[in-house]
Amino acid sequence: MVRVRFAPSPTGPLHIGGVRTCLYNYLFAKKLGGKLLLRIEDTDQTRFVPGAEEYIVESFKWLGITFDEGVHVGGPFAPYKQSERMAMYKEYADYLIENGWAYYAFDTPEELEVKRKEAESEKRTFQYDINTRNSLCNSLTLTAEEVQERLKGHFVVRFKYPENLEITVHDLIRGEVKISSHLLDDKVLFKSDGLPTYHLANVVDDHTMEITHVIRGEEWLPSAPLHVMLYQAFGWDAPQFAHLPLLLKPDGNGKLSKRDGDRLGFPVFPLQWTDPKTGEISSGYRESGYLPEAVINMLALLGWNPGNDQEMMSIDQLIQLFSLEKVSKSGAKFDLDKARWFNHQYLQMKSNAELAEQFNHQLIEKGIQISLDKVEKVVGLVKERVHFIQELWTQSSFFFLQPDTYNPDVIKKRWKEDTPQHLNTISEILMSSQPFDKAKAHDDVMAYIQENQINMGQIMNCLRLSLVGDSKGPDLFEIIDFLGTEEVGKRIAKAIQEIA
Ligand code: GLU
Repeated sequence: MVRVRFAPSPTGPLHIGGVRTCLYNYLFAKKLGGKLLLRIEDTDQTRFVPGAEEYIVESFKWLGITFDEGVHVGGPFAPYKQSERMAMYKEYADYLIENGWAYYAFDTPEELEVKRKEAESEKRTFQYDINTRNSLCNSLTLTAEEVQERLKGHFVVRFKYPENLEITVHDLIRGEVKISSHLLDDKVLFKSDGLPTYHLANVVDDHTMEITHVIRGEEWLPSAPLHVMLYQAFGWDAPQFAHLPLLLKPDGNGKLSKRDGDRLGFPVFPLQWTDPKTGEISSGYRESGYLPEAVINMLALLGWNPGNDQEMMSIDQLIQLFSLEKVSKSGAKFDLDKARWFNHQYLQMKSNAELAEQFNHQLIEKGIQISLDKVEKVVGLVKERVHFIQELWTQSSFFFLQPDTYNPDVIKKRWKEDTPQHLNTISEILMSSQPFDKAKAHDDVMAYIQENQINMGQIMNCLRLSLVGDSKGPDLFEIIDFLGTEEVGKRIAKAIQEIA
Protein backbone atom coordinates (compact mmCIF):
# COMPACT_ATOMS: atom_id res chain seq x y z
CA MET A 1 0.00 0.00 0.00
CA VAL A 2 1.43 3.32 -1.12
CA ARG A 3 1.52 5.92 1.63
CA VAL A 4 2.84 9.40 0.96
CA ARG A 5 2.86 12.57 2.94
CA PHE A 6 3.05 16.30 2.56
CA ALA A 7 4.97 17.67 5.50
CA PRO A 8 5.10 21.46 5.54
CA SER A 9 6.50 23.57 8.32
CA PRO A 10 4.10 26.29 9.45
CA THR A 11 6.57 29.12 8.92
CA GLY A 12 4.39 31.37 6.76
CA PRO A 13 2.13 31.12 3.72
CA LEU A 14 2.59 28.04 1.59
CA HIS A 15 4.61 28.75 -1.56
CA ILE A 16 3.14 27.36 -4.80
CA GLY A 17 6.26 25.18 -5.05
CA GLY A 18 4.95 23.46 -1.93
CA VAL A 19 1.50 23.24 -3.44
CA ARG A 20 2.99 21.50 -6.47
CA THR A 21 4.89 19.07 -4.21
CA CYS A 22 1.65 18.19 -2.48
CA LEU A 23 -0.18 17.90 -5.80
CA TYR A 24 2.37 15.38 -7.11
CA ASN A 25 2.03 13.40 -3.89
CA TYR A 26 -1.74 13.50 -4.30
CA LEU A 27 -1.66 12.38 -7.95
CA PHE A 28 0.81 9.63 -7.12
CA ALA A 29 -1.29 8.33 -4.22
CA LYS A 30 -4.57 8.49 -6.11
CA LYS A 31 -3.14 6.80 -9.15
CA LEU A 32 -1.86 3.88 -7.09
CA GLY A 33 -4.80 3.64 -4.73
CA GLY A 34 -2.63 4.83 -1.85
CA LYS A 35 -3.03 7.28 0.97
CA LEU A 36 -1.90 10.88 1.33
CA LEU A 37 -1.40 12.43 4.70
CA LEU A 38 -0.76 15.94 5.92
CA ARG A 39 1.81 16.22 8.67
CA ILE A 40 2.75 19.51 10.24
CA GLU A 41 6.47 19.75 10.97
CA ASP A 42 6.70 22.35 13.68
CA THR A 43 9.76 21.23 15.60
CA ASP A 44 11.41 24.59 15.13
CA GLN A 45 9.27 26.70 17.41
CA THR A 46 11.34 29.81 16.69
CA ARG A 47 10.06 29.81 13.12
CA PHE A 48 6.43 29.11 13.99
CA VAL A 49 4.01 31.61 12.47
CA PRO A 50 0.47 31.80 13.82
CA GLY A 51 -2.17 31.09 11.19
CA ALA A 52 0.18 29.23 8.85
CA GLU A 53 -1.26 25.80 9.58
CA GLU A 54 -4.83 26.99 9.04
CA TYR A 55 -3.67 28.66 5.85
CA ILE A 56 -2.23 25.38 4.56
CA VAL A 57 -5.42 23.48 5.31
CA GLU A 58 -7.58 26.14 3.69
CA SER A 59 -5.40 26.29 0.59
CA PHE A 60 -5.85 22.61 -0.16
CA LYS A 61 -9.53 22.82 0.56
CA TRP A 62 -9.81 25.54 -2.04
CA LEU A 63 -7.76 23.53 -4.52
CA GLY A 64 -9.79 20.38 -3.94
CA ILE A 65 -6.81 18.34 -2.78
CA THR A 66 -8.01 16.02 -0.06
CA PHE A 67 -6.02 14.08 2.52
CA ASP A 68 -6.77 10.63 3.84
CA GLU A 69 -5.11 11.33 7.16
CA GLY A 70 -3.68 14.41 8.74
CA VAL A 71 -3.59 17.12 11.28
CA HIS A 72 -7.09 18.33 10.35
CA VAL A 73 -8.79 14.97 9.72
CA GLY A 74 -7.05 12.63 12.17
CA GLY A 75 -6.23 9.04 11.34
CA PRO A 76 -4.66 5.87 12.71
CA PHE A 77 -1.23 7.46 13.20
CA ALA A 78 -2.39 10.59 15.03
CA PRO A 79 -1.18 13.00 16.19
CA TYR A 80 -0.01 14.40 12.85
CA LYS A 81 1.61 17.47 14.32
CA GLN A 82 5.19 17.05 15.51
CA SER A 83 4.82 19.39 18.46
CA GLU A 84 2.24 16.92 19.77
CA ARG A 85 4.61 14.00 19.25
CA MET A 86 7.59 15.48 21.09
CA ALA A 87 7.66 12.88 23.84
CA MET A 88 8.40 10.06 21.43
CA TYR A 89 11.60 11.28 19.81
CA LYS A 90 13.96 11.08 22.79
CA GLU A 91 14.12 7.30 22.85
CA TYR A 92 15.24 7.32 19.22
CA ALA A 93 18.00 9.80 19.97
CA ASP A 94 19.05 7.63 22.93
CA TYR A 95 19.07 4.56 20.72
CA LEU A 96 21.43 6.24 18.27
CA ILE A 97 23.83 7.22 21.03
CA GLU A 98 23.77 3.81 22.66
CA ASN A 99 24.56 2.20 19.33
CA GLY A 100 27.37 4.49 18.33
CA TRP A 101 25.42 6.34 15.62
CA ALA A 102 25.36 9.63 17.46
CA TYR A 103 27.20 11.52 20.17
CA TYR A 104 26.67 14.38 22.58
CA ALA A 105 28.32 17.67 21.73
CA PHE A 106 28.80 20.49 24.21
CA ASP A 107 30.51 23.20 22.19
CA THR A 108 28.87 26.55 22.76
CA PRO A 109 27.70 28.65 19.82
CA GLU A 110 30.50 31.10 20.66
CA GLU A 111 33.15 28.39 20.53
CA LEU A 112 31.88 27.19 17.19
CA GLU A 113 31.84 30.76 15.91
CA VAL A 114 35.53 31.07 16.79
CA LYS A 115 36.26 27.90 14.82
CA ARG A 116 34.28 29.25 11.91
CA LYS A 117 36.18 32.54 11.91
CA GLU A 118 39.48 30.72 12.22
CA ALA A 119 38.70 28.57 9.21
CA GLU A 120 37.48 31.57 7.25
CA SER A 121 40.76 33.40 7.79
CA GLU A 122 42.50 30.35 6.30
CA LYS A 123 40.01 30.27 3.42
CA ARG A 124 38.45 27.02 4.63
CA THR A 125 34.93 26.39 5.76
CA PHE A 126 34.41 24.94 9.18
CA GLN A 127 32.20 21.91 9.51
CA TYR A 128 31.44 19.71 12.50
CA ASP A 129 32.34 16.40 10.86
CA ILE A 130 34.57 13.34 10.67
CA ASN A 131 37.64 15.55 10.29
CA THR A 132 36.95 17.95 13.13
CA ARG A 133 34.84 16.10 15.68
CA ASN A 134 37.86 14.60 17.42
CA SER A 135 39.22 18.00 18.33
CA LEU A 136 35.95 19.42 19.59
CA CYS A 137 34.06 19.26 22.87
CA ASN A 138 31.90 16.14 22.75
CA SER A 139 31.35 12.68 24.16
CA LEU A 140 33.95 11.30 21.75
CA THR A 141 36.70 13.44 23.27
CA LEU A 142 35.68 13.85 26.92
CA THR A 143 35.83 11.26 29.68
CA ALA A 144 32.66 9.52 30.81
CA GLU A 145 32.61 11.59 34.00
CA GLU A 146 33.00 14.85 32.15
CA VAL A 147 30.19 13.85 29.84
CA GLN A 148 27.89 13.04 32.76
CA GLU A 149 28.69 16.39 34.32
CA ARG A 150 28.09 18.33 31.13
CA LEU A 151 24.81 16.58 30.37
CA LYS A 152 23.35 18.64 33.22
CA GLY A 153 23.75 21.71 31.02
CA HIS A 154 23.15 22.46 27.35
CA PHE A 155 24.03 19.85 24.77
CA VAL A 156 23.06 18.62 21.37
CA VAL A 157 23.05 15.15 19.86
CA ARG A 158 24.89 14.92 16.55
CA PHE A 159 24.82 12.18 13.96
CA LYS A 160 28.09 10.32 13.66
CA TYR A 161 28.84 9.46 10.05
CA PRO A 162 30.99 6.36 9.73
CA GLU A 163 34.38 6.93 8.14
CA ASN A 164 35.20 6.00 4.56
CA LEU A 165 31.65 5.39 3.56
CA GLU A 166 30.10 6.18 0.23
CA ILE A 167 26.44 6.91 0.85
CA THR A 168 24.00 6.27 -1.97
CA VAL A 169 20.59 7.85 -2.27
CA HIS A 170 18.38 6.05 -4.76
CA ASP A 171 16.20 8.75 -6.18
CA LEU A 172 13.30 7.88 -8.46
CA ILE A 173 13.84 11.04 -10.47
CA ARG A 174 17.59 11.55 -10.28
CA GLY A 175 18.82 7.99 -10.17
CA GLU A 176 21.70 7.23 -7.83
CA VAL A 177 23.20 10.15 -5.95
CA LYS A 178 26.45 9.30 -4.16
CA ILE A 179 28.41 11.22 -1.59
CA SER A 180 31.33 10.46 0.71
CA SER A 181 30.67 10.50 4.44
CA HIS A 182 33.73 12.74 4.78
CA LEU A 183 31.96 15.60 3.08
CA LEU A 184 28.92 15.64 5.32
CA ASP A 185 28.49 17.52 8.55
CA ASP A 186 27.36 15.79 11.70
CA LYS A 187 23.90 17.29 11.79
CA VAL A 188 22.20 18.04 15.07
CA LEU A 189 19.37 15.58 15.70
CA PHE A 190 18.25 16.44 19.20
CA LYS A 191 18.74 19.21 21.74
CA SER A 192 18.92 19.43 25.51
CA ASP A 193 15.52 21.18 25.57
CA GLY A 194 14.16 17.73 24.73
CA LEU A 195 13.21 18.65 21.19
CA PRO A 196 14.28 16.87 18.02
CA THR A 197 15.38 18.73 14.91
CA TYR A 198 13.68 18.36 11.55
CA HIS A 199 15.92 15.44 10.48
CA LEU A 200 15.20 13.13 13.39
CA ALA A 201 11.51 13.94 13.66
CA ASN A 202 11.04 13.64 9.90
CA VAL A 203 12.65 10.22 9.63
CA VAL A 204 11.04 8.82 12.78
CA ASP A 205 7.64 10.03 11.64
CA ASP A 206 8.02 8.77 8.08
CA HIS A 207 8.92 5.38 9.47
CA THR A 208 6.29 5.18 12.19
CA MET A 209 3.61 6.50 9.82
CA GLU A 210 4.62 3.80 7.33
CA ILE A 211 5.47 6.18 4.53
CA THR A 212 6.50 4.32 1.39
CA HIS A 213 7.57 7.22 -0.84
CA VAL A 214 9.09 10.55 0.14
CA ILE A 215 8.25 12.96 -2.65
CA ARG A 216 9.56 16.43 -1.85
CA GLY A 217 11.36 19.44 -3.25
CA GLU A 218 14.91 19.33 -4.53
CA GLU A 219 16.04 21.59 -1.69
CA TRP A 220 15.86 18.50 0.53
CA LEU A 221 18.21 16.42 -1.59
CA PRO A 222 21.26 17.48 0.48
CA SER A 223 19.49 16.08 3.56
CA ALA A 224 18.72 12.76 1.90
CA PRO A 225 22.11 11.08 2.65
CA LEU A 226 21.57 11.75 6.35
CA HIS A 227 18.06 10.38 6.15
CA VAL A 228 19.28 7.27 4.32
CA MET A 229 21.88 6.78 7.06
CA LEU A 230 19.31 7.25 9.80
CA TYR A 231 17.16 4.49 8.33
CA GLN A 232 20.22 2.30 8.24
CA ALA A 233 21.15 3.19 11.81
CA PHE A 234 17.69 2.29 13.07
CA GLY A 235 17.67 -0.88 10.98
CA TRP A 236 14.58 0.27 9.08
CA ASP A 237 13.78 -0.05 5.39
CA ALA A 238 14.05 3.40 3.88
CA PRO A 239 11.14 4.72 1.83
CA GLN A 240 11.75 5.48 -1.82
CA PHE A 241 12.86 9.03 -2.47
CA ALA A 242 11.85 11.38 -5.26
CA HIS A 243 13.19 14.92 -5.27
CA LEU A 244 11.19 17.27 -7.47
CA PRO A 245 12.81 19.94 -9.61
CA LEU A 246 12.73 23.54 -8.41
CA LEU A 247 10.21 26.07 -9.62
CA LEU A 248 12.26 28.75 -11.31
CA LYS A 249 11.77 32.43 -12.03
CA PRO A 250 10.22 33.12 -15.45
CA ASP A 251 13.69 33.85 -16.90
CA GLY A 252 15.04 30.62 -15.44
CA ASN A 253 17.57 32.40 -13.23
CA GLY A 254 17.05 30.97 -9.79
CA LYS A 255 14.28 29.86 -7.55
CA LEU A 256 10.88 31.50 -7.82
CA SER A 257 10.54 33.83 -4.87
CA LYS A 258 7.84 35.94 -3.35
CA ARG A 259 9.59 39.03 -4.63
CA ASP A 260 9.43 37.80 -8.24
CA GLY A 261 5.69 37.53 -7.89
CA ASP A 262 5.39 41.09 -6.63
CA ARG A 263 7.74 42.37 -9.30
CA LEU A 264 6.10 40.57 -12.21
CA GLY A 265 2.51 40.75 -11.05
CA PHE A 266 1.53 37.20 -10.23
CA PRO A 267 0.86 35.49 -6.93
CA VAL A 268 3.27 32.91 -5.53
CA PHE A 269 0.82 31.82 -2.84
CA PRO A 270 -2.46 29.97 -3.28
CA LEU A 271 -4.44 32.33 -1.04
CA GLN A 272 -3.94 35.89 0.00
CA TRP A 273 -1.82 36.11 3.13
CA THR A 274 -1.51 38.84 5.71
CA ASP A 275 1.73 38.68 7.66
CA PRO A 276 0.68 38.62 11.32
CA LYS A 277 3.73 40.66 12.37
CA THR A 278 4.03 43.32 9.72
CA GLY A 279 0.51 43.33 8.32
CA GLU A 280 2.02 43.06 4.85
CA ILE A 281 -0.37 41.49 2.36
CA SER A 282 0.78 39.00 -0.27
CA SER A 283 -1.55 38.24 -3.14
CA GLY A 284 -3.08 34.81 -3.65
CA TYR A 285 -4.29 32.90 -6.70
CA ARG A 286 -7.78 32.66 -5.25
CA GLU A 287 -8.16 36.38 -4.65
CA SER A 288 -6.57 37.21 -8.00
CA GLY A 289 -9.41 35.41 -9.75
CA TYR A 290 -7.74 32.15 -10.67
CA LEU A 291 -9.89 29.04 -10.73
CA PRO A 292 -8.59 26.15 -8.65
CA GLU A 293 -8.80 23.77 -11.64
CA ALA A 294 -6.60 26.12 -13.64
CA VAL A 295 -4.03 26.39 -10.86
CA ILE A 296 -3.92 22.60 -10.50
CA ASN A 297 -3.52 22.05 -14.23
CA MET A 298 -0.83 24.71 -14.54
CA LEU A 299 1.15 23.43 -11.54
CA ALA A 300 0.92 19.83 -12.69
CA LEU A 301 2.75 20.79 -15.86
CA LEU A 302 5.51 22.71 -14.08
CA GLY A 303 8.00 19.85 -13.91
CA TRP A 304 5.96 17.02 -15.40
CA ASN A 305 4.28 16.23 -18.70
CA PRO A 306 2.14 13.32 -19.85
CA GLY A 307 4.65 12.35 -22.54
CA ASN A 308 2.90 14.31 -25.27
CA ASP A 309 1.90 17.92 -25.66
CA GLN A 310 -1.53 17.62 -24.14
CA GLU A 311 -2.08 20.60 -21.87
CA MET A 312 -5.67 20.68 -20.69
CA MET A 313 -6.20 17.95 -18.13
CA SER A 314 -8.82 17.55 -15.47
CA ILE A 315 -7.74 16.30 -12.08
CA ASP A 316 -9.03 12.82 -12.99
CA GLN A 317 -6.99 12.79 -16.17
CA LEU A 318 -3.95 13.99 -14.26
CA ILE A 319 -4.37 11.13 -11.81
CA GLN A 320 -4.61 8.68 -14.67
CA LEU A 321 -1.60 10.04 -16.53
CA PHE A 322 0.75 10.94 -13.69
CA SER A 323 3.99 9.09 -13.15
CA LEU A 324 7.23 10.01 -11.42
CA GLU A 325 9.21 8.75 -14.43
CA LYS A 326 7.91 11.71 -16.41
CA VAL A 327 8.95 14.27 -13.83
CA SER A 328 11.85 16.25 -15.24
CA LYS A 329 15.23 16.61 -13.59
CA SER A 330 15.70 20.22 -14.51
CA GLY A 331 13.93 23.18 -12.93
CA ALA A 332 10.60 24.33 -14.30
CA LYS A 333 10.24 27.96 -15.31
CA PHE A 334 7.13 29.70 -14.10
CA ASP A 335 5.20 31.09 -17.05
CA LEU A 336 2.70 33.84 -16.31
CA ASP A 337 1.15 33.81 -19.79
CA LYS A 338 0.53 30.11 -19.47
CA ALA A 339 -1.07 30.59 -16.06
CA ARG A 340 -3.41 33.19 -17.55
CA TRP A 341 -4.07 30.96 -20.54
CA PHE A 342 -5.12 28.09 -18.31
CA ASN A 343 -7.43 30.34 -16.39
CA HIS A 344 -8.96 31.57 -19.62
CA GLN A 345 -9.53 28.00 -20.80
CA TYR A 346 -11.17 26.91 -17.57
CA LEU A 347 -13.27 30.06 -17.43
CA GLN A 348 -14.67 29.23 -20.88
CA MET A 349 -15.78 25.85 -19.56
CA LYS A 350 -17.90 27.41 -16.84
CA SER A 351 -21.55 27.84 -17.72
CA ASN A 352 -22.77 31.37 -18.34
CA ALA A 353 -25.24 30.89 -15.52
CA GLU A 354 -22.51 30.07 -13.00
CA LEU A 355 -20.34 33.00 -14.06
CA ALA A 356 -23.37 35.30 -14.08
CA GLU A 357 -24.11 34.37 -10.51
CA GLN A 358 -20.61 35.48 -9.46
CA PHE A 359 -20.51 38.49 -11.73
CA ASN A 360 -23.83 39.66 -10.35
CA HIS A 361 -22.20 40.16 -6.94
CA GLN A 362 -19.80 42.62 -8.53
CA LEU A 363 -22.65 44.38 -10.27
CA ILE A 364 -24.64 44.72 -7.06
CA GLU A 365 -21.58 46.18 -5.36
CA LYS A 366 -21.48 48.78 -8.11
CA GLY A 367 -25.12 49.56 -7.52
CA ILE A 368 -26.35 47.86 -10.67
CA GLN A 369 -29.57 45.88 -10.28
CA ILE A 370 -30.45 43.84 -13.30
CA SER A 371 -32.09 40.49 -13.92
CA LEU A 372 -29.85 37.45 -13.75
CA ASP A 373 -31.02 36.51 -17.27
CA LYS A 374 -29.57 39.69 -18.62
CA VAL A 375 -26.31 39.26 -16.71
CA GLU A 376 -26.06 35.79 -18.16
CA LYS A 377 -26.61 37.17 -21.64
CA VAL A 378 -23.76 39.68 -21.17
CA VAL A 379 -21.49 36.99 -19.79
CA GLY A 380 -22.15 34.89 -22.88
CA LEU A 381 -21.22 37.81 -25.11
CA VAL A 382 -17.91 38.77 -23.48
CA LYS A 383 -16.66 35.66 -21.74
CA GLU A 384 -14.26 34.67 -24.48
CA ARG A 385 -12.45 37.98 -24.04
CA VAL A 386 -11.61 37.56 -20.38
CA HIS A 387 -8.98 35.66 -18.43
CA PHE A 388 -10.45 36.39 -15.00
CA ILE A 389 -13.94 36.92 -13.68
CA GLN A 390 -12.97 40.42 -12.54
CA GLU A 391 -12.29 41.33 -16.17
CA LEU A 392 -15.93 40.74 -17.04
CA TRP A 393 -16.66 44.23 -15.80
CA THR A 394 -13.99 45.98 -17.88
CA GLN A 395 -15.21 44.10 -20.92
CA SER A 396 -18.89 44.76 -20.37
CA SER A 397 -19.47 47.90 -18.30
CA PHE A 398 -21.06 49.64 -21.30
CA PHE A 399 -23.93 47.17 -21.23
CA PHE A 400 -24.93 48.67 -17.92
CA LEU A 401 -23.70 52.28 -18.06
CA GLN A 402 -23.67 54.92 -20.76
CA PRO A 403 -20.16 55.87 -21.78
CA ASP A 404 -18.83 58.99 -20.11
CA THR A 405 -15.83 59.33 -22.33
CA TYR A 406 -15.12 58.56 -25.96
CA ASN A 407 -11.75 57.28 -27.06
CA PRO A 408 -10.07 60.31 -28.70
CA ASP A 409 -8.00 58.14 -31.04
CA VAL A 410 -11.12 56.61 -32.50
CA ILE A 411 -12.73 60.03 -32.86
CA LYS A 412 -9.69 61.37 -34.64
CA LYS A 413 -9.51 58.47 -37.01
CA ARG A 414 -13.20 57.83 -37.72
CA TRP A 415 -15.42 60.76 -36.83
CA LYS A 416 -16.12 62.92 -39.87
CA GLU A 417 -18.27 65.94 -40.53
CA ASP A 418 -21.17 63.94 -41.89
CA THR A 419 -21.02 61.30 -39.14
CA PRO A 420 -23.74 62.87 -36.93
CA GLN A 421 -26.16 63.01 -39.82
CA HIS A 422 -25.62 59.34 -40.70
CA LEU A 423 -25.79 58.27 -37.08
CA ASN A 424 -29.08 60.07 -36.65
CA THR A 425 -30.51 58.27 -39.65
CA ILE A 426 -29.23 54.92 -38.39
CA SER A 427 -30.80 55.71 -35.05
CA GLU A 428 -34.14 56.23 -36.81
CA ILE A 429 -33.76 53.03 -38.79
CA LEU A 430 -33.13 51.10 -35.60
CA MET A 431 -36.06 52.74 -33.80
CA SER A 432 -38.37 51.79 -36.63
CA SER A 433 -37.65 48.12 -36.10
CA GLN A 434 -40.50 47.40 -33.69
CA PRO A 435 -40.41 44.89 -32.12
CA PHE A 436 -36.68 44.89 -32.56
CA ASP A 437 -35.42 42.27 -34.97
CA LYS A 438 -31.65 41.95 -34.89
CA ALA A 439 -31.27 40.42 -38.35
CA LYS A 440 -33.62 42.83 -40.01
CA ALA A 441 -32.10 45.85 -38.28
CA HIS A 442 -28.71 44.70 -39.47
CA ASP A 443 -29.90 44.39 -43.08
CA ASP A 444 -31.63 47.74 -43.01
CA VAL A 445 -28.56 49.53 -41.69
CA MET A 446 -26.35 47.80 -44.25
CA ALA A 447 -28.71 48.78 -47.03
CA TYR A 448 -28.60 52.41 -45.90
CA ILE A 449 -24.81 52.36 -45.81
CA GLN A 450 -24.58 50.88 -49.28
CA GLU A 451 -27.20 53.08 -50.88
CA ASN A 452 -25.46 56.17 -49.62
CA GLN A 453 -21.96 54.87 -50.33
CA ILE A 454 -20.85 55.51 -46.79
CA ASN A 455 -17.50 54.18 -45.63
CA MET A 456 -18.59 51.10 -43.70
CA GLY A 457 -15.60 50.83 -41.28
CA GLN A 458 -15.94 54.47 -40.49
CA ILE A 459 -19.61 54.59 -39.68
CA MET A 460 -19.77 51.29 -37.84
CA ASN A 461 -16.87 52.35 -35.64
CA CYS A 462 -18.60 55.61 -34.89
CA LEU A 463 -21.78 53.79 -34.01
CA ARG A 464 -19.79 51.54 -31.72
CA LEU A 465 -17.99 54.54 -30.23
CA SER A 466 -21.36 56.11 -29.43
CA LEU A 467 -22.65 53.03 -27.66
CA VAL A 468 -19.47 51.75 -26.03
CA GLY A 469 -17.17 54.77 -25.82
CA ASP A 470 -14.44 52.83 -27.56
CA SER A 471 -13.77 50.50 -30.46
CA LYS A 472 -14.03 47.36 -28.33
CA GLY A 473 -16.83 44.95 -27.53
CA PRO A 474 -18.74 42.06 -29.06
CA ASP A 475 -21.01 42.14 -32.12
CA LEU A 476 -22.60 45.55 -32.46
CA PHE A 477 -26.10 44.28 -33.16
CA GLU A 478 -25.93 42.08 -30.08
CA ILE A 479 -25.12 45.20 -28.10
CA ILE A 480 -27.99 47.09 -29.73
CA ASP A 481 -30.34 44.21 -29.06
CA PHE A 482 -29.31 44.18 -25.41
CA LEU A 483 -29.53 47.93 -24.88
CA GLY A 484 -32.85 48.34 -26.69
CA THR A 485 -33.45 50.92 -29.38
CA GLU A 486 -34.55 53.63 -27.00
CA GLU A 487 -31.28 53.49 -25.07
CA VAL A 488 -29.36 53.26 -28.35
CA GLY A 489 -31.10 56.43 -29.54
CA LYS A 490 -30.15 58.23 -26.34
CA ARG A 491 -26.54 57.15 -26.55
CA ILE A 492 -26.23 58.24 -30.16
CA ALA A 493 -27.70 61.64 -29.32
CA LYS A 494 -25.37 62.01 -26.34
CA ALA A 495 -22.30 61.05 -28.36
CA ILE A 496 -23.14 63.49 -31.12
CA GLN A 497 -23.54 66.24 -28.60
CA GLU A 498 -20.41 65.50 -26.61
CA ILE A 499 -18.12 64.81 -29.51
CA ALA A 500 -19.17 67.95 -31.32
N1 GLU B 1 9.18 20.13 6.84
C1 GLU B 1 9.85 20.05 5.58
C2 GLU B 1 9.38 21.23 4.74
O1 GLU B 1 9.02 22.20 5.30
C3 GLU B 1 9.54 18.73 4.93
C4 GLU B 1 10.57 18.23 4.00
C5 GLU B 1 10.26 16.81 3.65
O2 GLU B 1 9.27 16.60 2.94
O3 GLU B 1 10.96 15.93 4.10
O4 GLU B 1 9.37 21.24 3.55
